[in-house]
Order: sequence, then C-alpha cells, then structure tokens
Amino acid sequence: MQKDCIFCKIINKEIPAKIVFENSKVLAFHDINPLMPIHVLIIPKEHIESIKSLSSGNISIVEDLHLAAIEIAKMHNIEDFRLISNCGKSVGQSVFHLHYHLLGGSQIQNLV
Ligand code: 5GP
Ligand code: ZN
Repeated sequence: MQKDCIFCKIINKEIPAKIVFENSKVLAFHDINPLMPIHVLIIPKEHIESIKSLSSGNISIVEDLHLAAIEIAKMHNIEDFRLISNCGKSVGQSVFHLHYHLLGGSQIQNLV
C-alpha cells in the first residue's frame, strides 16, 4: 500500500470502482474514462510502479495479470483484445501503479 496512490486506494476499497475480477494477487476494474466498449484496468494488489520495477523477485505477477486478462476477455465475450501497459510519463503513464489496459469490443487501429 502506497499512500496517495489512487489504485492502492481502490484495492483497499477507499475509492469505489466497478470491479470485474479479483483474486489474492490481482484486481481488475472498469476504467473511469473508457476509450473502447471494453476498457478494463488489470493491476497487481502489490504496489509496483511500472514494468520498469519488475525483477526476478516479483516477475511472477505478470503471469497472474495475463491469466486474469484471459479470464476477463472470456467474461466479456470478446474473442480479441489488446493489452497495453504505459511505462513512464512520456509515453502516457499517469498512474504509477503497474496496470494493463485491456481494450476490446470494437476494431482497433494498428499502432505498431
Ligand atoms: P495510464 O494513463 O497511467 O496508462 O492509465 C491510467 C488510467 O487510469 C487512465 O485510463 C484513467 O482513465 C484511469 N483512472 C484514473 N483514475 C481512475 C479512478 O479513480 N478510477 C478508475 N476506474 N480509473 C481511473
Ligand atoms: Zn499503488
């Protein structure tokens, strides 16, 4: 738990969110400002700033986050989805608690 982290506050239920998935390590909820018909944020319950803060000690969380993504896509009946993790301010990270955006439900243009 990091003081002043909005996602830690959501984990602690201090701030409400539309939760779609929860287990002992992962929480997922609808983005407050959806950019697609399905726009879910998938986060670790442990406060980790971004992918840059992953190392051999905590990398296993990526497995949990990806397995959650597969579950959430199934739950929403979407065959295809995109997972994005902005990693650093200059590429759009605004909340410094690791998260994947799960986007789907309509056609997405290629970025890369
Ligand atoms: P980033 O810009 O860091 O990649 O993504 C942060 C995301 O968190 C944004 O898409 C933003 O809409 C979402 N967000 C920020 N504050 C809240 C909040 O209080 N509740 C929810 N559900 N989403 C939030
Ligand atoms: Zn946090």
